[in-house]
Amino acid sequence: MFEIHQMATAVSDRNSKQQLESAAIILDCREHGESDLIVTFFCRHHGRLTGIAKGAKRSKKRFVNKLEIFTSLRIRHTIPKNNRLAFIAEAELVESFLTLRQDFLCYITASIIREFTLLATHEMEGDEELYPLLVWAFTSLDNGRPPRAILILFLIRFYTAIGYSPQLHRCPDCSQEINETETYTFFPAAGTIRCSICNKGKESNGSPLTLGTIRSLAAAQDQPLNRIHRLHLSRHCQKEALTFLHHYGRQLFQREIISWSFLDTISPKGKRNKPQ
Ligand SMILES: [Zn+2]
Repeated sequence: MFEIHQMATAVSDRNSKQQLESAAIILDCREHGESDLIVTFFCRHHGRLTGIAKGAKRSKKRFVNKLEIFTSLRIRHTIPKNNRLAFIAEAELVESFLTLRQDFLCYITASIIREFTLLATHEMEGDEELYPLLVWAFTSLDNGRPPRAILILFLIRFYTAIGYSPQLHRCPDCSQEINETETYTFFPAAGTIRCSICNKGKESNGSPLTLGTIRSLAAAQDQPLNRIHRLHLSRHCQKEALTFLHHYGRQLFQREIISWSFLDTISPKGKRNKPQ
């Protein structure tokens, strides 16, 4: 009861509007002072939000074991104004996604997804597509689906959700649809594949993509989210796709994706590679 009273006081102290309840995924959580936590979460209607959970480190009821990175929660919060923090009043655990914090490859994959999401979004920028995509990716990882395949499928949809869908259906220069008589290279700066005829004498810094990989990725762009996990991605296709999606991300954000380097320390069979 004391906590509820304290919470109501804090809300009125901040002249805040009414509290809302949002389904959210925790993207970041760090300590603030002796007892508070600063939490960044992503929800469907408000996008990315950062708020303060007062007394969260001591709270046994409102927050204990809930404000963990990657968890899915229902959060009661205010909407901040003028670049201030939201006030997080309470959180109810929906899904802990424990595998994402216990399995090393799942953790790295979820960390890459988190890094891309933080890079592509600003505070209070909602996106109706990104929230369900995050939930889909974390649920798939938690259910034991292959992390590299989930990362590929997440990223191909993620680029579309943020407005940078790679052009994979046809060569833009000759307008020919992809076909088995041609070979193709993806060029990150242009965001498109190009056939070998059109690329003669032009750029040389692209990622080669075989027809099977292009078709699988194009299908992942087109199909409903709840069906794309059925797409089969061969080992070779995964290798090509990851290289291309990584290069494209670096080009879009003009920086290295820090957590990606950990992915290269694990072999496709899940074993840790020895340092060279
Ligand atoms: Zn062409």
